[in-house]
Amino acid sequence: MTKAELYRQVDDLRQRLGGRMPKTYAGLLSLVDYAIPHLRVVGHPMDSRKVAGLLLRGEESVILLNTSFTPVSLRFTLAHELIHFFLHPEERQLVCARQNSPLEWQANEGAAELLVPRHSFLPTMENICSNFWQEKDRIAAAAIRFGVSEQVIRYRIKSLRQYYSASTRYAAISAAREQAQFAGLVEGRQRASMPVAGRQSL
Ligand SMILES: [Zn+2]
Repeated sequence: MTKAELYRQVDDLRQRLGGRMPKTYAGLLSLVDYAIPHLRVVGHPMDSRKVAGLLLRGEESVILLNTSFTPVSLRFTLAHELIHFFLHPEERQLVCARQNSPLEWQANEGAAELLVPRHSFLPTMENICSNFWQEKDRIAAAAIRFGVSEQVIRYRIKSLRQYYSASTRYAAISAAREQAQFAGLVEGRQRASMPVAGRQSL
């Protein structure tokens, strides 16, 4: 699955969950409880922090979260498990530790997109200079605004820079269109900066 396909599926999921994600772990828990039938979220502290959460699918599915993490981490892990739940229906049991499998990548990237939507984040991102390790205050403010860790914001910046600088013509055009729409730029100004062939396909 490409990043663009993943983001489209996350857009659908976000709409299904009401459009805007609650900013706190408790709020997201309530939303899941209210909006997703046959899915129960259980929290329990684990001695080890190697496993953040797991998903057990059944007639009633269960997400088990390791509550030895902070509420901010728990909110991200819950989003991660929700991506598994909706996007990986063939998986009966998933134990989520630090892994680089394609499914884990999708769950992490999908959770980041669910909680820090590219469309809302782009204007913030544009204010953070390219050497974002020096932009501590802005990163911290963005983390608070979106209810995630600073690490997630840094990862988001890296990932979206890649996404929007993808080299194919199609990706460049749709990225520019999305940027124009969601960064509040005047559409005409954006079109004027595009090649003629690109303008025709819009
Ligand atoms: Zn996982």
